[in-house]
Amino acid sequence: MAPAAITPESSGTTTPTTATASSLTQAGIKHMQSNGNGAAGELAPLDASSMTVELTKSPRPVPEPMSPETMAQKTCTDHMVTARWTAEHGWETPELKPYGPFSIMPSASVLHYATECFEGLKLYRGYDGRLRLFRVSRNCARMRKSAARIALPDFDPKALEKMIIALCAQDGAKWLPKSRAGSFLYVRPTMIGTDQALGVQRPKEALLYVIIACFPDMSKSLATPAPPALTGEANGAAKQQTPGLKLLASAEDTIRAWPGGFGYAKVGANYGPALVAQGEARSRGFDQVLWLFGNESYVTEAGASNFFVVMREKESGKLQLITAPLEERIILEGVTRASILELAKERLAKSQDNIEAVEVVERRFTMPELLEAHKDGRLIEAFAAGTAFFVAPIGLIHFRGKDLEVPMDGGDSGVYARTIKQWLTNIMWGKESHEWGIVVDETAQ
Ligand SMILES: *Cc1c(COP(=O)(O)O)cnc(C)c1O
Repeated sequence: MAPAAITPESSGTTTPTTATASSLTQAGIKHMQSNGNGAAGELAPLDASSMTVELTKSPRPVPEPMSPETMAQKTCTDHMVTARWTAEHGWETPELKPYGPFSIMPSASVLHYATECFEGLKLYRGYDGRLRLFRVSRNCARMRKSAARIALPDFDPKALEKMIIALCAQDGAKWLPKSRAGSFLYVRPTMIGTDQALGVQRPKEALLYVIIACFPDMSKSLATPAPPALTGEANGAAKQQTPGLKLLASAEDTIRAWPGGFGYAKVGANYGPALVAQGEARSRGFDQVLWLFGNESYVTEAGASNFFVVMREKESGKLQLITAPLEERIILEGVTRASILELAKERLAKSQDNIEAVEVVERRFTMPELLEAHKDGRLIEAFAAGTAFFVAPIGLIHFRGKDLEVPMDGGDSGVYARTIKQWLTNIMWGKESHEWGIVVDETAQ
């Protein structure tokens, strides 16, 4: 099996040992170069070119896009890719094989110490009939950082990319047929510590795997009306008539991430503890939690999406597209976030087609700042951005007992969210040829 596409973005990477020191500067990285034993050079690198292939003998039916089965998010495609790692030998040969359960010991590291990290990206069926991944090399690079933060082994990101592409090539034709142009599957690379030693220690065994799930289009399912019990607006429940996402600002006693923590890493340990707040938001009729930080109420992220706001600067009167900065490492560096910042710098630096130019700013900003801008009429729009919800306009933020209604051009989206979403849509579904859209050549069935 020879995965076809090689992305232009990560072509500089060669072996895990050379890539480690030069391309990653984050603090967590230094741990992963000494994975328990000093003879790192003798350990086998992750090598996707030797991947074995065993196809399923019991292929399953593909659910309809918005069927109950797809909504349940439990159906995965026919195959998965796995690769085992041991501290003794390094990476074993990756295997593409039928999707199915694993066997791990009840004492496995991941089940006790949350040695788990993951990625989330989509496989798109383009309007030109081709399959694409979006900037997959960025997901692979981020997964290395996440793994390093929780003492899981390093790997060549290029090899993971090839494993992802091979699985997409294998299952894409059947599970995302050409008749479903404009839709997607959800790809979930994962790594877990499988070491059965119960002592609190760096795992000496790990499993890297990739699965593909059938997901509903969340940007469509958001249109579902809330249950009638919630439409009363009593008890701080969300207003129902507002278009766009409704966010509930996190309570003062609830923090998602903190400096020195692991908010920048896509590790499972970030998500379980957020479910109580998310459940409360949902039960009150909100879509997501807006995660604030500190006494100043710094705005960080919305659910598992990055948060963007367009505001007119008080002194200069210029429009700015603002999102939280990466330096403190309390937010996740989204691939969507990075792409929006790049596109906005490139395409919105000058006013055009009735769209006013925006300055792109990564800085800290607070809820009181948003409230003041709103009062002065300087708050133009806000949106959340990430793979799951894509680019989602925000209609309302509930903060300390008050509703902030975010302007939205009178329609269902502000002009910046709409424009940026269209640009990304064009790249993901192949309406615009762009180096971020990585074409996957399908394996003949
Ligand atoms: C995954 C994730 C995002 C979005 O990242 P993308 O790469 O754009 O999908 C943002 N915030 C959090 C907390 C996340 O887990």
